[in-house]
Order: sequence, then structure tokens, then C-alpha cells
Amino acid sequence: MDIDSLVRKNIKSLKPYASAREEFSGRADIFLDANENPFGLELNRYPDPMQRKVKEKISKIKGVSTANIFLGNGSDEVIDLLIRIFCEPGKDEIVLLPPTYGMYKVCADIANVGSKEILLTPDFQPDVKTILEAAGTSSKILFLCSPNNPTGNNFEFEKLKILIERFPGIVVVDEAYIDFSTQKSTATLLPEYPNLVVMQTFSKAWGLAGIRLGIAYSSEEVIELLNRVKPPYNINSLTQKVAAEILTDPAKHTEKINAILKQRARMKEQLSAFKFVKNIYPSDANFLLVKVEQADKLHQFLMGNKIIVRNRSRVPLCSGCLRITVGTEKENEQLLRSLELFQSN
Ligand SMILES: *Cc1c(COP(=O)(O)O)cnc(C)c1O
Repeated sequence: MDIDSLVRKNIKSLKPYASAREEFSGRADIFLDANENPFGLELNRYPDPMQRKVKEKISKIKGVSTANIFLGNGSDEVIDLLIRIFCEPGKDEIVLLPPTYGMYKVCADIANVGSKEILLTPDFQPDVKTILEAAGTSSKILFLCSPNNPTGNNFEFEKLKILIERFPGIVVVDEAYIDFSTQKSTATLLPEYPNLVVMQTFSKAWGLAGIRLGIAYSSEEVIELLNRVKPPYNINSLTQKVAAEILTDPAKHTEKINAILKQRARMKEQLSAFKFVKNIYPSDANFLLVKVEQADKLHQFLMGNKIIVRNRSRVPLCSGCLRITVGTEKENEQLLRSLELFQSN
């Protein structure tokens, strides 16, 4: 696929801002080029605009070359940049598969880019045939979220592959929850498909939602475009420092994931014992989508007990559903106690 033909004209001809730190990347003793304050410890300097240390560590762990890695201020920044690179406002559109993550549509709406919505099938899988039939020349980006939020399931790998291969534009696979999943990452397909963008994040399995760091893996062409359009210092020094630290000990990260998976299995079992629970959908993420009787009433009741879960009951295909994040053992027990109270009321 010719990526160049998908890019907006103004982005193609864009002369990117050249930051002081980008113009000089060698070794020097005295930096008088960026109007920084010479006093202060470390944080008086602008951060590395290309986040080389963090990317090198990710590259080693994930086996993806640094030239195929982009870092964003959360995945949300990556979503926004991709829409601004590929979608002409008032003309182009993105393709979405509801029920799914809300930020794709919000970013498109802000950019005055349309959204074509094609519902998942009742078993929460992409309707491959309908998606491909509906995709036209103005359909620039397809957003696939696997494992999907809020349904929690993986999309079948074969379906993902067909969509990546046949969709006539950029295909984003949002893998925010991939570390909780039994399915392999679509990152294995990157060398074959230059239109594929795989997004991952430090916000979920890594436990670092507060530092705002999202990853995009893609072809060098797409990564180069993201680099041209991003704010020069989009990842601050504190975030780069914490990320570099956590990446030196990936084993710790696996421990936390295993603890969450154990709690997920336990919650699934215990929740299914409640009479008002009608269904618990299979989850490959760190949350459970639970269909209940009287979803609004239960949601309110839990709030009254100072427990917040997400009410998804007005989302297509999710009527009566609450989305419950897997917490610590103690948090989960408190939730179960509140549910017992609800049942006996
Ligand atoms: C939580 C989540 C993200 C994470 O976004 P960040 O901006 O990286 O925190 C991305 N995609 C989905 C589907 C999510 O649920």
C-alpha cells in the first residue's frame, strides 16, 4: 500500500518545527541554544524530543526496531495525531466498530472528521464483510480495539489479519489490554503491512496511567509522519525517566499482571453466584463486562457505597451491562460485600 497517497496535502508539504535539541544531538559541554535557565537540577533542560533511551529499552523488550516506534502523551495523543495526518476535515472519515473505546470518535469530532460506525456482531466480533463493503476512498483509518473496551474480548486474529490486509487505508489495532490477553500481538504482522499501526500503553498492565505514555509501532513511513506532526517535546523528562526505570525490570511487571489475572478469575467465579447477574462475558482484559438486572439501580447503589464501576448499559449491544475493573483482593472483596447487600435488599 502507498502510504504517501493517504496523507493530507498540507501534512505532506509541512516543514516541521526544528527544535534546538534536534538540530544538535552530539556531545557538548555548554548548551546555550534553547533559552533554558542555566540554574536548577536536571529539569531546567528540555527533554530528549526523540526519547531515545526509552525507545531503545522498548526495542530490546519487544524486538521492534527504534525506527518503528513512536511515543505519545498517552495513546490518546497517537489517536489524535493519526486523524490529523490522514483525515481531511469535512471530507474524510474514520471507521469505528461500536461498542468500543470512546476517544476515537471524540478525536474525530474535534477534528471535524466523520465517523462511519459498523456494529460488532452479537458475539462482539468485527463484521469483516460489511466493514470492507462500507470502506470507500474517504475511509482513511479503521480503528480496531483488541482486546476490546468495553466488551473485554479479543477479535479473532484471522479477522484482524484480513482487515489489515484488505482495508484500503491505515488500520490501527489498539492493544491497550494485550498484556492481559492469551492472544498474540498483531505487532508480528508489522513487517508485512506498512499501513498497520499497533498501539500499546503504559496506562494499564504497566500500572503507569499517571505518567501519560503511549506507544505506536508502525512502518518507518508512518512513524516519520507522526514525528513530523507531534509537538517537539511531547514526552516530558519525568515521564521518560520513570519509563526508562520501569523497563529495566520487566519481571516485576509480569508479577503484577499475574496477580490481576488471578483476581479476574476469582471475581468471575464469585460474581456469577449472584442471582441478579445474568451474564459475565469472556475477558482478555483487566475488567469484566457484567450483564445484570437493574443495571442503573445497582450502579447507583454501588456509588452510594463509594464504589465506582462504569455503567455501559446505554452503549449499543451492552444493555444492562456494567464494566467492572479488577482491583486488589481487598477492593474486590469490598465490592462483593456491597453486592451481597444489594441482593438482600
Ligand atoms: C485505557 C485505554 C487506552 C489508554 O489510553 P492512554 O491515553 O494511553 O492512557 C487506550 N485504548 C483503550 C481502548 C483503552 O481502554
